[in-house]
Amino acid sequence: MAQSISSSPSDFVREVIEEHLRTSRFKGRVATRFPPEPNGYLHIGHAKSVCLNFGIGAQYEGTCNLRMDDTDPAGESLEYVESIINDVRWLGFDWQDRLFYASDYFEQLYQYAVQLINAGKAYVCSLSADEIREQRGTVTEPGKESPYRQRPVEENLGLFARMRAGEFEDGAHVLRAKIDMASPNFLMRDPVLYRIKRATHYRTGTKWCIYPMYDFAHCLSDSIEKITHSICTLEFENNRPLYDWILDQLRLDSHPQQIEFARLNLSYTILSKRRLIELVQQGAVTGWDDPRMPTIAGMRRRGYTPDAIRSFCSRIGVAKNENLVDVSLLEHCVREDLNERAPRVMGVLRPLRVILDNYPETQVEEFECPNHPQNPGMGSRSVPFSRELYIEEEDFLENPPKKFFRLAPGKEVRLRFGYFIKCVNVVKDPQTGRVTEVHCTYDPETRSGFAPDGRKVDATLHWVSANHSIPAEVRLYDRLFQAVDPTGDGDDFTKTLNLKSLESLGSCRVEPSLAGAAPGSRYQFERLGYFCVDAKDSSTKNLVFNRIVTLRDSWAKISGKGKG
Ligand code: ATP
Ligand code: MG
Repeated sequence: MAQSISSSPSDFVREVIEEHLRTSRFKGRVATRFPPEPNGYLHIGHAKSVCLNFGIGAQYEGTCNLRMDDTDPAGESLEYVESIINDVRWLGFDWQDRLFYASDYFEQLYQYAVQLINAGKAYVCSLSADEIREQRGTVTEPGKESPYRQRPVEENLGLFARMRAGEFEDGAHVLRAKIDMASPNFLMRDPVLYRIKRATHYRTGTKWCIYPMYDFAHCLSDSIEKITHSICTLEFENNRPLYDWILDQLRLDSHPQQIEFARLNLSYTILSKRRLIELVQQGAVTGWDDPRMPTIAGMRRRGYTPDAIRSFCSRIGVAKNENLVDVSLLEHCVREDLNERAPRVMGVLRPLRVILDNYPETQVEEFECPNHPQNPGMGSRSVPFSRELYIEEEDFLENPPKKFFRLAPGKEVRLRFGYFIKCVNVVKDPQTGRVTEVHCTYDPETRSGFAPDGRKVDATLHWVSANHSIPAEVRLYDRLFQAVDPTGDGDDFTKTLNLKSLESLGSCRVEPSLAGAAPGSRYQFERLGYFCVDAKDSSTKNLVFNRIVTLRDSWAKISGKGKG
């Protein structure tokens, strides 16, 4: 174990762990867990916690459990459990045979509650929820002790058993810890440990009508699993005294150390399951896996790689104070990873027909094009070239401004992997005046991409052969929210929704090598960005691509001008 202690731990959580390894606080053991509640899909904030917990487990030759923290039946479901399992695995982590469910501990948790009652540390309180709230006191005033606080142990045991047996209405009684109504920490003012709640649990059905509260269930689940380091987000700092109190009262040998770190906040992004559910339910997105969602499922469908997400999580680090991470850092990590691994292809999003007047009508050339400019190991594919091509509409202007370097009447440009072409004429729609065809001549001497006479061109355009290319739908995504902090003013966060976050282009053309491209496969469309075959909607008949990310950060440029 000792060899895994590094000379300089990379963050304060690891510092604490290494101190414990040095002092043998947990006999050299490191056991962490990732404890999601299955009431929604995982998002990129959860990924930070997944990477931290599983990363620590691996680094110190310890373990990391995956535990469904499923003690509140409301909103929990098997669909969410399955999505969580799928997402954590996809991120690249392995819990071996240590997938646990807090709901499997219900009986044990009940017995612990009975022990607390027997020790005089918990009592059945028959005040209503409102009364309990009213008597909780304020920052300056202590709370009032419940009139039921001195109930004898025997009576408490009897009432608690009858609560379990279903003899009372929801809310008629609760089990409370007997701690200190004058504690400066509100959570220590006789917190509720159990409540009556008739609800069907997705795993235990109607077996239980009382359910433990988070603070009671969480520390005990950690202890049952012999976790050493219970890593959670900062908002649980005030819960730590209660976490420790419960374990101390029960004199449990396994007493994990809770450590709090700052949660991930991302600009232009909402990271709260409750709010993400609203987006799904309102139909603002097509589902949890909508490629605009900050969920792992959405990012996977969009085309983000697990490596990019892990690299992002390692770059943002782990700290003790809240901050806001710029979402363009995440996009940067995605670009960096895809630049290495994505084969290059050509596709035209808004096609404009180009006719090479002097190219033989029936001739077709096959250009052998490398799949990656720096990596010959990725091979090459052949791309057909013919008399009729498509180029990007925005690469041509009939009346270009001075600095327009692309195609225009009388101007010469290079076609990627091929010839120089020069615009000689345009055909327009007589009704609208729109250019529908651009006529060019090509220079047969420039097949190499260079002119023998040494003349230069200003631009190289991507293209596809009109007759050989295949149709595709391409979905362009922008940020889902227009505000840096969508929940910032506490107002209705849906007001800052970017209504133009999805643009679907239906008449794109892509090179024929993409016929039959596998769902989920990723490409760089030259000059345009990275694209992924949509895993849900794409088929061999109807190719659908998601734009994963542009080649450069176009948003930074816009907001740099003060528009963002
Ligand atoms: P949300 O705020 O989205 O509802 P949650 O905390 O209720 O999230 P849980 O399922 O309880 O969701 O979270 C599982 C684990 O992930 C917890 O340990 C939690 O601290 C951690 N986690 C949740 N959100 C973030 C975040 N934004 N950054 C880092 N860790 C997070
Ligand atoms: Mg939670």
